Order: sequence, then structure tokens, then C-alpha cells
Amino acid sequence: EVDVPEDHPRYQSLLTRHRIEAGVEKGITSTQGLIAEGRGEAFDYLLGEETIPSADRAARAAAAHFLLAEHPVISVNGNVAALVPGEVVELAEATDADIEVNLFGRTEERVRAIAAHLREYGASEVKGLTADARIPGLSHERAKVDRDGIYDADVVLVPLEDGDRAEALGEMGKTEVVIDLNPLSRSARVATVPIIDNILRALPNVARHARDLSGSPRETLTEIVEGFDREGALDAAERRLREGATRESE
Ligand code: ATP
Ligand code: MG
Repeated sequence: EVDVPEDHPRYQSLLTRHRIEAGVEKGITSTQGLIAEGRGEAFDYLLGEETIPSADRAARAAAAHFLLAEHPVISVNGNVAALVPGEVVELAEATDADIEVNLFGRTEERVRAIAAHLREYGASEVKGLTADARIPGLSHERAKVDRDGIYDADVVLVPLEDGDRAEALGEMGKTEVVIDLNPLSRSARVATVPIIDNILRALPNVARHARDLSGSPRETLTEIVEGFDREGALDAAERRLREGATRESE
């Protein structure tokens, strides 16, 4: 990786940009991904670049959903692959989940590049290449998923997903965990569990909770799932953003 001085006050953010740039160079991240990264950074800045308590509770609820699921799937796009490939593999292992590449601007070539990249990080099986099923209500290319992957899943983790697709997946009756730094984004708003946090912090956090909760009785997991307050989590994040904006202007 590139030389970013660790004592730089914006170390994490610089590192993130470099990973996204490298992702573009490697053909796994789209140029649209650069724009998404910029939007995310602005929100993270206001959040104080830390996991707020409500986001931690969301991560725990997400872990409980994954452990209770019959067929959990982690959806991976170009930004996710560039930023947290190892953490995706770790979470899949901790929860016995499938990994599926699912792109907004789908090209066969990019799906292959991302799958190869994930295998470099230890993924044994990566779905998304068969694309033999459709999410109802979406236009052709954007609707494509694997029948034995996202199409069949009961619980899906869709980090940095676009609003339309998040909505369409919800309408299929799936339990949706969304990781997104913007609590006002449609993806976050339609999620069963919105985790308003940077994926760099959120994904390892979900994996940590999953390891911590593995072996817990189903009643315990169900209690965590039922006790989660999605509206409260969205409100808390929004409040934090507004406080952040005030903090920065003082
Ligand atoms: P909407 O959901 O309102 O329809 P959108 O999905 O079209 O908006 P995009 O720019 O495509 O908007 O989505 C990018 C989203 O990903 C933004 O909400 C941004 O905050 C979020 N994001 C970008 N980088 C990260 C990151 N590292 N961690 C978490 N979220 C991120
Ligand atoms: Mg969105």
C-alpha cells in the first residue's frame, strides 16, 4: 500500500482514498465509486469518524440476524471490494454466509475482477457470475442476481447500495442490513437494520459481534433482533450529524 504517514491527522481518510484509487486502477472499482467515496467522507467527517453507540447496536442486531438466517448473503460492489476485502471474507466465515458480487454498473469483466480479488483475500466461493435470476421491479442489467445467492437469501447485507435496489430487495421480503454513512439515504431508510457507519469500521464490528454471539441460544439472538430500534438508530445518527455540523463551525 501507499505511503501515508500514520501520524497524519487525516490518516484513515487518506488511506481510504488510496484504496479506492488502487481499486479503480485494478479494474474493480468504477469511477462512480470515486463519487460515492466523496459523499461518504463528508458524512463521516460530521460523524466525527467514529462508531456511534446506535451504530454499534445496529451492528450487533445485524450479527444476530446473520446468525439466525437460513441463507445469509453479503453483497459486494467495487467500493466494498477495494476497502474491506479481508473483512468480507471474515464475516462470511463467522456467519457461514455466501459472498455475491453485485454491481450497479454491471460488467462481466468487473464481476470477474472482483471475484478474483476476493479469492486473493481467502474467499473460497464467490457468487455473482451466473446471474440467472432477476430482482423484480428493476431494469435488466441492474436486476441480475444469482438464483442460489441473493435471489434465494433470507438475510442480505448490502453495504453502500443504491436506493432503488435496496427498496426492490425489501419488497422481495428480505431482511436487509444496510451499511451507509448517510442516514437520509433511501438505502438506509428502507433497511431492516441500517448501520450508519463507515464500512471500514462497521464490517469488522459486525464480524466481532458475530463471533461474540456465536453459540448463543436462538432466544437470545431473537431478543437482540426484536429489541433493535431502527427509527431510533436513524434519528440518533441524524442528530449526531447536525451536532457535527455545529461543532465544526464553532
Ligand atoms: P440514495 O440512497 O439516496 O438513493 P445513492 O445511493 O444514489 O443515494 P450514492 O452516491 O450512489 O447515492 O451512494 C453512495 C452512498 O454510500 C452514500 O450514501 C455514501 O454516504 C455511502 N458511502 C460511501 N462510502 C462509504 C463508506 N466507506 N462507508 C459507508 N458508507 C459509504
Ligand atoms: Mg444510497
